[in-house]
Amino acid sequence: MNFNIITLGCKVNQYESQAMSELLKQNGFSQSEDKNIADITIINTCTVTAVSDAKNRKIIHKARRNNPHAIIILTGCMPQAFPDRTEDFEGCDIVLGNKHRNALIPAINEFLLTHRQVISIEAHDNRDAEYESLSVHSFDGHTRAFVKIEDGCNRFCSYCIIPYSRGRVRSKPVEQLKAEVKALADNGYKEIVLVGINLSAYGQGEDFDLADAVDAVCETEGVERVRLGSFEPEMMYDTLIKRFSKQEKFCPQFHLSLQSGCDETLKRMRRQYDTDEYMRIVEDLRANFDNPSITTDVLVGFAGETDDEFEQSLNFVRKVGFSKTHVFPYSRRRGTLADKMENHVSPKVKDERSKIMIDACEKIRAEFLDSQLGRVEPVLFERLRGDFCEGYTKNYTPVKIYTDIDLSGQIIDVKLVSREGEYCVGESV
Ligand code: SF4
Repeated sequence: MNFNIITLGCKVNQYESQAMSELLKQNGFSQSEDKNIADITIINTCTVTAVSDAKNRKIIHKARRNNPHAIIILTGCMPQAFPDRTEDFEGCDIVLGNKHRNALIPAINEFLLTHRQVISIEAHDNRDAEYESLSVHSFDGHTRAFVKIEDGCNRFCSYCIIPYSRGRVRSKPVEQLKAEVKALADNGYKEIVLVGINLSAYGQGEDFDLADAVDAVCETEGVERVRLGSFEPEMMYDTLIKRFSKQEKFCPQFHLSLQSGCDETLKRMRRQYDTDEYMRIVEDLRANFDNPSITTDVLVGFAGETDDEFEQSLNFVRKVGFSKTHVFPYSRRRGTLADKMENHVSPKVKDERSKIMIDACEKIRAEFLDSQLGRVEPVLFERLRGDFCEGYTKNYTPVKIYTDIDLSGQIIDVKLVSREGEYCVGESV
């Protein structure tokens, strides 16, 4: 039997899809050559916004239409966060949560035996302690490998559904990480991106921390770069910063989720820092790393956000000077604290604020890219696109060089000489 996995959402979901793909191959299933047709289609869902849920449903219906007699498997954060919303399971033969990805093969075998719908969604609870052992040996279609090391979140920011879909914090032991990264390096992966649901909570309640994970990956032969996924700002302790800065292979790109540049809004979001503390951390990073980039996420139109609060947020984003900002209109999620708040902002106002924030952030982005010109930087090339090859510097600046040679997987020193839209144009030195 062959299979397709359709993945939505974050790098953790992408990692888990890769792990499920390897599990299936180890059990005699093969990857379908047709991305729309297979004996088994797995939809690995995200539920971070209402829009994501609508997208999940659309993909389920399309998969069923394309594969009327095949096995359709729904898994991931949507069924895990909303196990009672059984109308979502229509057209699915198997429904699994995200707590036990290793439950996939037994569920398929059960369905092949009974041909009755299999639903297995084990609830997360506060006793969630054990980290589910999953590992990958490659990252199909990618030059860099994402490695999940942390699951769950104990924060419960007022707008966020993730703690309900991912459970409590649990961490991959460093020894497991070492073995997994060695396998990836042996398979030619030069850059490892460490990811988690709340990566900054890695090692919470354990005798190891994120700097131990970074050190372990840096010590792995064949690995030339280590990058971190999204990070909670206030957990970027000075001790961690110092230890990261000692690692030559560490990539100085920090995705520090801001969400709002207004202290009153941050309080309603139940974020655990204010703008002064955020600015102090940014300055600390800029003082300890050569040419770091700070990227972020910002929500606009959060419950109760006034014109003045939005203005404060916009001005703070300008003050920090992010190299890239992802702007999201706030999306109400049933079951979160914020959903019950008053004074929700109209879609029209959210739209207007998104446009203003995006415009401002694009200008700052262009200034950042221009500030990289003249530098010579090592670039890990990822793919050939027609007459140029594209890749990223250590601080995640996108670079293109004009060539018809596929340099994918190679790290080459490049002088950044000009800018074309989103890319810095380079010449190899
Ligand atoms: S830290 Fe907050 S926003 Fe991030 S996953 Fe946890 S609850 Fe959600």
